[in-house]
Amino acid sequence: MTTQETLYDQLYRLDGQGYGAYKSLKGEYDFEDFTLCIDHVQGDPFAAPSRVRVVVPQAVAGFPQNLWEQPCRAIALADYLIRQFYRATPKHQRTSGSGKSGLIGIVRPSQAVLDRSAARVTAEAVELRFTVGLPAFGRRIAGRQAAEVLCGAVPALVTRTLRYKALDAASLGHHIDTVEDAEALRSQLSTHNLVAFVADGAILPRRSGIDERPLEHQAVPFTSPDSLRVTLACPHAGKVTGMGVPQGITLIVGGGYHGKSTLLRAIEAGVYNHMPGDGRHQVVTDPGAVKVRAEDGRSIAGVDISPFIGSLPQGKSTQQFSTPNASGSTSQAANIIEVIEAGATALLVDEDTSATNFMIRDRRMQALIAKDREPITPFIDKVQQLYTDYGISTVLVMGGSGDYFDVADTVIAMDDFVPQDVTEQARAIAADIKTERDREGGQSFGTLTPRIIQPNSIDPSKGHHSVKLRARDVDQLQIGTEAIDLSAVEQLVESGQVRAIAEAIVYAQRYHMTATTPLAEAIAAVMTDIAQYGLDCLTEWPMGDLVYFRGLELAAAINRLRTLGTV
Ligand code: ADP
Ligand code: MG
Repeated sequence: MTTQETLYDQLYRLDGQGYGAYKSLKGEYDFEDFTLCIDHVQGDPFAAPSRVRVVVPQAVAGFPQNLWEQPCRAIALADYLIRQFYRATPKHQRTSGSGKSGLIGIVRPSQAVLDRSAARVTAEAVELRFTVGLPAFGRRIAGRQAAEVLCGAVPALVTRTLRYKALDAASLGHHIDTVEDAEALRSQLSTHNLVAFVADGAILPRRSGIDERPLEHQAVPFTSPDSLRVTLACPHAGKVTGMGVPQGITLIVGGGYHGKSTLLRAIEAGVYNHMPGDGRHQVVTDPGAVKVRAEDGRSIAGVDISPFIGSLPQGKSTQQFSTPNASGSTSQAANIIEVIEAGATALLVDEDTSATNFMIRDRRMQALIAKDREPITPFIDKVQQLYTDYGISTVLVMGGSGDYFDVADTVIAMDDFVPQDVTEQARAIAADIKTERDREGGQSFGTLTPRIIQPNSIDPSKGHHSVKLRARDVDQLQIGTEAIDLSAVEQLVESGQVRAIAEAIVYAQRYHMTATTPLAEAIAAVMTDIAQYGLDCLTEWPMGDLVYFRGLELAAAINRLRTLGTV
């Protein structure tokens, strides 16, 4: 293998040559303490930066076995290393040069601790994947600067961030233990018949809509009401008390600005683990819980929305409903049916992002508009059937309609950011003040019809059958020439998840979708492959920017593809 010295000399020789000559760098280099792999060389100084990896043998890295032997601890350790590396890399260009000259980059971690292809720790080695902007002046190779980056800055970063001895052992241990505790908490939810658990002392509010860190000063720590308090055991933090959100139908009520949506958002985020100091690191949620909302304008392909929407004007069928432009209520109906198809076990719904006519239809409206003139069966008349027929719980923020008291198993009132159990009061009120509504939902939820996607309705090829993917941020991804709007898929937290989903759609289409495979089966097959072989199975060569996602979000992305067709 070529040594560091040879690479150094080679870079000096390349100095002043055309940028394309950098292509000769592709390969592996034996540095004293690690191997540097240059997997992909950028075509010009302004293109996406070059992809590199370092592989540090455990003999050098020295991470004790107890930090990585459990899968969830290995993920937490890798997450910690990515954060160290991310913090240590300068975010702005220091050296002169064109384009991204000299910039070292790694995926930007959110507050969540997720499995990312950027780092992996095994018994043999620590591997870290990142990018380097190979330096240039104009379109000429800046060889001396390249040598400084690859043979100077990179080894320095490796020494500072990828060796156990160089790290704060207490902080690292706490990071890993916190994640293992959260896993332990989540694993106890089903035995306690809970959808979610919110620990006492948790900090739920965030700094702002664009800053996911915990609110700093006036945050009121979470306190559980006596009647909903449960105590769970963790391997490291010991006994933890907090509020259990029971299975069934739970309403979160309360005046405006009292913290209802903030609680629901923390529950949404609880499908992931969080780093210590996040405030939500002991807030855990059923991994099958999905936020659903209205999303007018989205396209729908062959979804049986008949449990919610009966025959439409002009006799349009709703058993295989397709539209390029759904209304608020039909989009919310389709969103619910689709997540059930994809395996959701709980729905999280906020009145702020719901269609009113999908959620409620009160006595007076029933009197004015006859049932046969209204295709919508509101959610209030299906939410119980959804639980009894399919075991799917709902947590619903609803400050605007007490009609839901009739169908709720638990009612939590947020009062100045403090939850109260008001189930008994709500029951008494429901008995006292009748809504006099007609129940419109019937005995059962209705049948669910699995869909089969036409494999050729997903076309990732562009030009000469090459794959063109672009995950710009968490709100959009590109498959072939089609952009998919993911802004209503609210549980995506990192752009690397979107990037990985883009790869997974192509992978699903290529290996698991046939004219006879139901969509849910194809998605399950993709997720099984990822569980077995890791995110790397999605790509031909090692990528550093893929981040764990759920099958639920993969399904959500496929369902929003505008070219989608069903068999
Ligand atoms: P609601 O949905 O009841 O109208 P929100 O959840 O949107 O209320 O919260 C209103 C505001 O209060 C938000 O700015 C939120 O960040 C803040 N907030 C929520 N919970 C807390 C808390 N525990 N401590 C301090 N501020 C909070
Ligand atoms: Mg709200």
